[in-house]
Amino acid sequence: MRQRLHIAVVGYGSGGQAAALALARDGHQVEIFERVPAPGPVGAGFLLQPTGLQALWRLGLLDEVRALGTPVSRLFGETPAGRAVMDMRYADLDPRLTGVGMQRGALFALLHAAIARESAIHLHADCAVVEVDCEGGRLRDARGQWHGPFDAVVIADGSASVLRSAVTGMRIDRPYPWGALWCLLPESDWPWVDELRQRYRRARQMAGMLPVGRMPGESVRKLSFFWSLPIAEFDAWRMAGREAWLDAVATLWPQAREQLGQTFDVGVLARAAYRDAIPKRWWRGRAVLLGDAAHAMSPQLGQGVNMALVDAVSLAAQFRQATSTADAFDAYERERRVHLSIYHRYSRWLTPLFQSGNDGIAVLRDLAFLPVGKLPLARGHMLRVLAGVQSGWSGCYPLDPAFVAEFNATKNGPVVADGPVPNS
Ligand SMILES: Cc1cc2nc3c(=O)[nH]c(=O)nc-3n(C[C@H](O)[C@H](O)[C@H](O)COP(=O)(O)OP(=O)(O)OC[C@H]3O[C@@H](n4cnc5c(N)ncnc54)[C@H](O)[C@@H]3O)c2cc1C
Repeated sequence: MRQRLHIAVVGYGSGGQAAALALARDGHQVEIFERVPAPGPVGAGFLLQPTGLQALWRLGLLDEVRALGTPVSRLFGETPAGRAVMDMRYADLDPRLTGVGMQRGALFALLHAAIARESAIHLHADCAVVEVDCEGGRLRDARGQWHGPFDAVVIADGSASVLRSAVTGMRIDRPYPWGALWCLLPESDWPWVDELRQRYRRARQMAGMLPVGRMPGESVRKLSFFWSLPIAEFDAWRMAGREAWLDAVATLWPQAREQLGQTFDVGVLARAAYRDAIPKRWWRGRAVLLGDAAHAMSPQLGQGVNMALVDAVSLAAQFRQATSTADAFDAYERERRVHLSIYHRYSRWLTPLFQSGNDGIAVLRDLAFLPVGKLPLARGHMLRVLAGVQSGWSGCYPLDPAFVAEFNATKNGPVVADGPVPNS
């Protein structure tokens, strides 16, 4: 579509931010509606995959992401007895690729600064949207004021979206019974600064440490620490007190306990809950879903923010190619659903292997996960799933050779000779 569209984006999370930026860069006029009065950096960290990194490259932010984030080359998980359960390296998929651990606040700040440079984007903060008129392209806010009409309304209000019901019914929409506690810690002497490390006792206990780099303007590099817990036990955990929990951490993972330090304040631990959400369709009239609103899943596979970033650049690309909004939405939904389908399944299947009270399934995991991952076909598949480039059962989400070459040329460590990208 050649004409300049007037587009509303609801939600100023990573998905909404990236969508607003991608659409404004294509010449559209964008208004963002965010319920929080002073949108700012919140949350711990995430692992950006090659798919999400490519989306940020398309938005011209790769250098800044690399400067603030930290390369993560390996995922390693083990039991307290030192039995390896998971061991995957990006280099086995393609030596030119890594993940990048990043603080949520750092990604927020990068996208926020890029948005501030775009005169075609206007942010309405403290403006919760309570109703979407999909056919008319209008929004009503919590104060009763209507906005629009817009040519398109992008609904990116997160996993617990209340607005997606205006677009569609749900195939699946349920919270996971398990969540997590998390916090940021200084990296200091942590020995594994380019690995996501996890420890498991059966599926009842899981802790992880992900290096996530630094915030803009700061020099202290951080780790994102998480501790798995059933939602129903959050209160009992609080009542049991600091020492009981620190003892549990020490028993599961002495190095993590040490990293927390002697004066660790459990009050800094934030709670996270997640849900599984699959809508029947992604668009209706002038409204379309994006990010967790379109495909919430457990963070077990570490794909949520990556998929939201890919959604954003994909939607903008479809607007460029299509002859109508409906055609753009249709092509966007088809493309994104194919890529996501297998991730929804794996997220549902794998989460109980790592977060549940099912000891039998965890024993099986400890015995089988690593050997299965060494089988040639399974290994490639698992690595592609990790990197976010698996699409459906047998396809690959395309990585642009120019992105892979640039990533390779600017990454820390040895530059690897160019060759075909893993999906070719
Ligand atoms: C513990 C945890 C760890 C995770 N780790 C990873 C990881 O390592 N890698 C990864 O890729 N993903 C990870 N994820 C998932 C990732 O955080 C999400 O997939 C991603 O943040 C989704 O972005 P979003 O923009 O779609 O939604 P959100 O970030 O939830 O943003 C939604 C925005 O909409 C606003 N909003 C909501 N309702 C309204 C309304 N009615 N009106 C206006 N505004 C509204 C909210 O205030 C918010 O700003 C993790 C998630 C959790 C919980």
